[in-house]
Amino acid sequence: MPAASAAHSHAADLADFVAASPSSYHAAEEVARRLEDAGFTRLDEADAWPTQAGGRYVIVRDGAAIAWAVPTDATATTPVHVLGAHTDSPGFKLKPKPTTGAKGWLQAAVEVYGGPLLNSWLDRELRLAGRLALADGRVVLAATGPLLRLPQLAIHLDRGVNDGLALDKQTGTQPVWGLGEPESADILAELAAAANVDPAEIRGFDAVVADAAHGTIFGKDDAFFASGRLDDLASVHAGVVALIEAVDSGASGTVIPMLAAFDHEELGSASRSGAAGPILEDVLERIYASLGSDAEDLRRAYTSSWCLSSDVGHSVHPNFVQRHDPVVQPVLGSGPILKINANQRYATDAVGAAAWASWCESAGVGSQEFVSNNAVPCGSTIGPITATRLGIRTVDVGIPILSMHSARELAGVSDLYDLSRVARAFFAI
Ligand code: ZN
Repeated sequence: MPAASAAHSHAADLADFVAASPSSYHAAEEVARRLEDAGFTRLDEADAWPTQAGGRYVIVRDGAAIAWAVPTDATATTPVHVLGAHTDSPGFKLKPKPTTGAKGWLQAAVEVYGGPLLNSWLDRELRLAGRLALADGRVVLAATGPLLRLPQLAIHLDRGVNDGLALDKQTGTQPVWGLGEPESADILAELAAAANVDPAEIRGFDAVVADAAHGTIFGKDDAFFASGRLDDLASVHAGVVALIEAVDSGASGTVIPMLAAFDHEELGSASRSGAAGPILEDVLERIYASLGSDAEDLRRAYTSSWCLSSDVGHSVHPNFVQRHDPVVQPVLGSGPILKINANQRYATDAVGAAAWASWCESAGVGSQEFVSNNAVPCGSTIGPITATRLGIRTVDVGIPILSMHSARELAGVSDLYDLSRVARAFFAI
């Protein structure tokens, strides 16, 4: 298959992955579903885990998933190569007592989740998706079709709007989802119906609002890919594809390849399923215990291990060039990016840059660098958190995008594919 069509197939598959992943809980399940289809065994954290030589495994904890393969000749000090990414995206989350309304409209009471570009959520058909905790102890996933919309006020009623749109985070962000009186409606019943459960059985819910539109390939030479939740499902998807390919190609025993898809990055990662929590350490300690590692062996393994922390970064924007570094200006279509920040907002250092270059070289993929304009504060991601928690050498990378934190972000088709190819080289075992 020529490279162009392989890249377009990859982007089309990403569109399906994003559609199957309207919430972090769905994303974690979709990771597990794809890996189980590829021969991975799903483990329960409450069970004793099997002896693992030659095994391939995946666990799901809330909205996080961790998957790995153990080479047949793995030892107590075999290093791990972790591709880190995150399943959550900025948007809105249902509040308690979520069914509201006014003047004949039904509305949903939502909190802002993370840092969305509020204006980008206007005038789009939106889904409701998440998980329901039921009276019988079950936790089920639920996702509606297009159900909600945040309608913008007409320009006739807001003549100054083109001088700068200001949306109040409370009063300006409550979407409509129907007509009628809130006293006789229940938005949770929509989720319950989608999951085929009785709404009276719901005891708890985590539900977010997600863009309902499918990802689209477009532009000259089909170079662009637009979709919701590219931050950071593009990296999670690249990791799943790469892990399956790496494992299917056969293990030689040099590293344990691992995908760690964390939740709650958009909030700072501090949770039981976030990168600042114990989940990765929990899994690593159990894996190495099964390989017979003692405390020293574990530290020796960590010392020769790597974390490739993959999250989206900023492409240069042609209308706002002054917001970017005057020299280092990555652009869509020229390859994944290596993220660098003097203040450790990214974990990349000289040794990591050299390792990244070697993985790109073995994948035959070009790469670009990203660094911020000094006057524009730099974002951060899971890389520095992972490096700080475990002491594993970490490199921050990703794909360049425009419209970061929009309801619909813009990536380059070839970059998405190239990221999965570098991840495949990183996993090479
Ligand atoms: Zn991100």
